[in-house]
Amino acid sequence: MHEFSLMDSVLSTVEESARQAGALRVLSIDIVIGDLIQAVEEAMDFAFEALSEGTICEGAELNMTFVKPKSVCQDCGCEFEHDVFHNKCPDCGSIFTTLIQGKELYIDKIEVDMPDEPSNDQT
Ligand SMILES: [Zn+2]
Repeated sequence: MHEFSLMDSVLSTVEESARQAGALRVLSIDIVIGDLIQAVEEAMDFAFEALSEGTICEGAELNMTFVKPKSVCQDCGCEFEHDVFHNKCPDCGSIFTTLIQGKELYIDKIEVDMPDEPSNDQT
């Protein structure tokens, strides 16, 4: 399943930064997914549950924000949102457009649980 490999890379990034920060647990993960990635929300949830089991991310809240594809017209310069299949300029009808948003998958925010005890080198 496509979503498993996507979630796998998200989780390894999250785990790495959480460990580097010295976090005990990951509380929530906010990710942004472009519609052109064609990730299904339910499948992402399922992949998350399955892959986070036994890791620092287990039980974390997963928040997904889906963003619509957006292109800029090469002829008139207008920026417009469109669906996965149509990217013709709505202003001038040009087909010469460049995609500027919609293919991304990134982590927007991670909330972690930090240890209460101050570390030894602090007073
Ligand atoms: Zn145009």
